Amino acid sequence: MSNSAPTSRSFSENLDLLAEVAVKVGLGLQPGQELVMTASLDSRALARRITEHAYRAGASLVTTLYADDEATLARYHFAPDQSFDCAAKWLYDGMAAAFKSGAARLAITGTDPALLANEDPDKVGRANRAVSQAYRPALELITRHAINWTIVASATPAWAAAMFPAEAPEAALAKLWEAIFSTSRVDTPDPVAAWKAHDAGLQQRAAMMNEKRYAWLQYKGPGTDFRLGLAEDHLWLGGGTTAGNGVYCIPNMPTEEIFTTPHKERAEGVVTATKPLSHQGTMIEGIQVRFQGGRIVEARASRGQEVLQKLIDTDEGARRLGEVALVPHSSPIAASGLTFLNTLFDENAASHIALGQAYSTCLREGDKMTAEELAAHGANESLIHVDWMIGSAELDIDGITAGGVAEPLMRKGEWV
Ligand code: ZN
Ligand code: ZN
Repeated sequence: MSNSAPTSRSFSENLDLLAEVAVKVGLGLQPGQELVMTASLDSRALARRITEHAYRAGASLVTTLYADDEATLARYHFAPDQSFDCAAKWLYDGMAAAFKSGAARLAITGTDPALLANEDPDKVGRANRAVSQAYRPALELITRHAINWTIVASATPAWAAAMFPAEAPEAALAKLWEAIFSTSRVDTPDPVAAWKAHDAGLQQRAAMMNEKRYAWLQYKGPGTDFRLGLAEDHLWLGGGTTAGNGVYCIPNMPTEEIFTTPHKERAEGVVTATKPLSHQGTMIEGIQVRFQGGRIVEARASRGQEVLQKLIDTDEGARRLGEVALVPHSSPIAASGLTFLNTLFDENAASHIALGQAYSTCLREGDKMTAEELAAHGANESLIHVDWMIGSAELDIDGITAGGVAEPLMRKGEWV
């Protein structure tokens, strides 16, 4: 936020503003609407501020489901083996029922990026798969944008320690909060207005790409020589969306990306990740994969290879792409120079692609299509949706028209 006047607000004023922006701009919470929130115990300070702002905005009921890292670890250390094929399906079914009856969804992210790094990858993989299956009915309402939803971040001691290992715990936590406030535009004189202006800029960039209607994107950079086809009738989105329930929301705070649906059968060549990926508490580093006919035919990681392999073995769609996103290297998150080890931030610091489930809203009339129609347009289907970062200051991207003409889109990570 180099172009905004620095303000000197207290920590609690900033926390309160973050909550206010999340409720008003992120969620667009409506009077009388229910809210289902998920948070960790370590992020309860923000959850409480959000609860207050939600009620002040007229929420009929705010229900927060708290997770506890210590309890998660206790399961890995003491639970019987069959535990790892279980998930609280009744809970996720309840969330889906709440969404169907009109509830909005807010997730606070901020757990320890390496919580499960030392646990058995087989157990981690099985537990993730069980949750993905149980969560599917609820997740589908979110990927279809049937309801208004958003994700915001809270600093937590474990996350801060992973990001700033050389700092004392309190200093690390303060640094992470500062980074969250600044990348979430809370440090601007009028955060709500700043978000509206930023949203308009993303909408404009998406509109430009929708006019161009490129058939392919061509990527060239260190370790990357890759061509990705876009889905038939693909639609670039960025910033806010009007959800199926008619409410305008901005699903990620922060957000810097414009994104669309690639064609699940059109990806060729080699892609190298430019940032480590923290996936459900495990770290995957040095990812390099080769695509053929849209499918990963070779996958390597210098760390977390086994987790990566399990991830792409989740189902047939886990080896194919469900999202492609463009983010300039000068985004405030990239400019911070920090690796957050958290997808909400790192995916907004760099151009990325995602393995797995496609967003049907990224197709024209996609929210009205059947599963067969979506597949016929090239939209991928999977239990997973995992973003990984491929953008850098050395990446060049061309758009290739249906007629085969290449036009420069990004050079050295910036829009041309
Ligand atoms: Zn994305
Ligand atoms: Zn994504």
